[in-house]
Amino acid sequence: MNKKILIIANWKCNPSTQKEAEHLFTAVKKGIKKSDKTEIIICPPFPYLSLFKKKTNAIQLGAQNCFWEDKGAFTGEVSSLMLKDIECKYVIIGHSERRNYFKESDVEINRKIKSVLKNRLKPILCVGEKDRDSFNPEGHPINEMSLIVGEQIKKGLADISQTKIPDIIIAYEPIWAIGTGLPCLPDDAMKAALLIKKTLTGLYNRSIAERVKIIYGGSVVSQNAIDYIKEANMDGLLIGGASLNANEFTKIINKIAL
Ligand code: PEP
Repeated sequence: MNKKILIIANWKCNPSTQKEAEHLFTAVKKGIKKSDKTEIIICPPFPYLSLFKKKTNAIQLGAQNCFWEDKGAFTGEVSSLMLKDIECKYVIIGHSERRNYFKESDVEINRKIKSVLKNRLKPILCVGEKDRDSFNPEGHPINEMSLIVGEQIKKGLADISQTKIPDIIIAYEPIWAIGTGLPCLPDDAMKAALLIKKTLTGLYNRSIAERVKIIYGGSVVSQNAIDYIKEANMDGLLIGGASLNANEFTKIINKIAL
């Protein structure tokens, strides 16, 4: 089985010019040491994707969102078929910022995942609870995190056949840890990953669940990145803020690639 660690950069709505985007991409490309232990994926804003097409085999491209129809009268949308055509390999779906600011529902997320899979790209489904306290509320036998994450997975993967499930990556991203400088403890990230595997086992079976890559995102920096891989046994990382700094991002990659 391919156990490459996924290191995914989510540039969000950054940087603001093509020149800066090219500069950042080139600096990352130059800074990373070749390794067969890692797979590096950069998810820039849509306008920059084609700039990086075929620039290097060492970095794969991902998008931050897509629409569920292939084409048509849907002003402002970008389809997964278009992304496939410009050699994108991955698409982030259901990021908490999209769920929050753009009110994306689990039903819409499910449609997007189906479209991504139909067009043979890999969806990165983001799940996570809002409040830090919901991880382990005192006296609650089942904590809120497990309910929220369990529901997001069940609804996001509704009616997707089990043959497609191993192509899906699940990113556990507690909202309270995103961009806050308050990362989730590796031990807690591991508990969340086990819960995700349990949910997948219930929906499909254990061998399917074992094949799904589960990654962590939320305030990852070069000082804590390796802990999620070594201690929490995560299959990769989704990195926002730190991926906008080429030095910091390549430091993370090169530590993991060692
Ligand atoms: C994210 O937006 O997916 C993310 C993990 O952001 P940050 O690394 O900045 O917390």
